[in-house]
Amino acid sequence: RITGIQSNLELLGLALPSFKKLLELQNQCIEGRELSERMIHNVNPIMMKKGLECKDVYFKYTKAEQYALQKINLRFPANRMTAIVGPSGAGKSTLIDILMGLNRPETGEVLIDGKTLTSENLLALRRSISYVPQDPFLFNNTIRENLLIIDKKAKDEQIWEALEFAVAADFVKRMPHGLDTMIGDRGIKLSGGERQRLVLARAILRKPSILVLDEATSALDTENETKIQNAIENLKGTMTIIIIAHRLSTIRNADQVIVLDNGEIIQQGQFGQLANEKHGMFSRLLKKQLEVSV
Ligand code: ADP
Ligand code: MG
Repeated sequence: RITGIQSNLELLGLALPSFKKLLELQNQCIEGRELSERMIHNVNPIMMKKGLECKDVYFKYTKAEQYALQKINLRFPANRMTAIVGPSGAGKSTLIDILMGLNRPETGEVLIDGKTLTSENLLALRRSISYVPQDPFLFNNTIRENLLIIDKKAKDEQIWEALEFAVAADFVKRMPHGLDTMIGDRGIKLSGGERQRLVLARAILRKPSILVLDEATSALDTENETKIQNAIENLKGTMTIIIIAHRLSTIRNADQVIVLDNGEIIQQGQFGQLANEKHGMFSRLLKKQLEVSV
């Protein structure tokens, strides 16, 4: 059974990885489409108690010579905020894909509450996660339709609440038809920052127990990024947060920071602790950002 959105995309012949990911998430499928939405609605979200874990994970893209991830041993404790940082190409997004079961480790495993990720608990995991990818996708449709992709039953009040959270309410109110404004090719063109804020609102609307943000505020100006950061900090303790940080200042209060380089974990600890490791990659990254922002 093909859903509306999926068939639209197929008509357009779109097959970029981000679309594929969105479809997989939206349909809650394992590797595509064999499981219908009806099945996922019978799946209960995971009430994760201990958290997610990577055990000796190695991963290599097809045809790649080098491992994109190696020797990854990590815990993402439930209801804590874990930040992942590292230079571009370090493997941060790849690690997220592995955690979400969008890619499988070559060796090693991902565990949820100590249990190996299988097709069964993968469904429950995906049912529980809101994921904002680096290159989020919006449809050529109304703002409302874009926000309701995941939770079709959300009421306007909840939609506005999510928009407030994502610092998007003001610009949506200014649109000619509010929530019913068409965006995209045949509607209003949004800036990168506006797009990111809408996608963040969509993620929150779903009331996830695990929130995964991959450089989700990279296109925002500092003021709006700070506002969203404060909102995310308010979520701390209520859900498991995994955040790939664009600006390091935004992860100051993370419970743990993981530093990746060349697919390996090279540092791990709290922000202040890592900042004090004078010759480490983290203090180097910090210094670089300070220079840029001065
Ligand atoms: P980061 O998110 O830290 O910038 P990525 O996880 O995107 O890094 O990439 C890690 C490494 O894997 C890079 O060398 C990148 O070129 C490579 N890579 C990423 N995605 C793919 C892909 N789909 N196919 C082949 N190589 C990839
Ligand atoms: Mg990335």
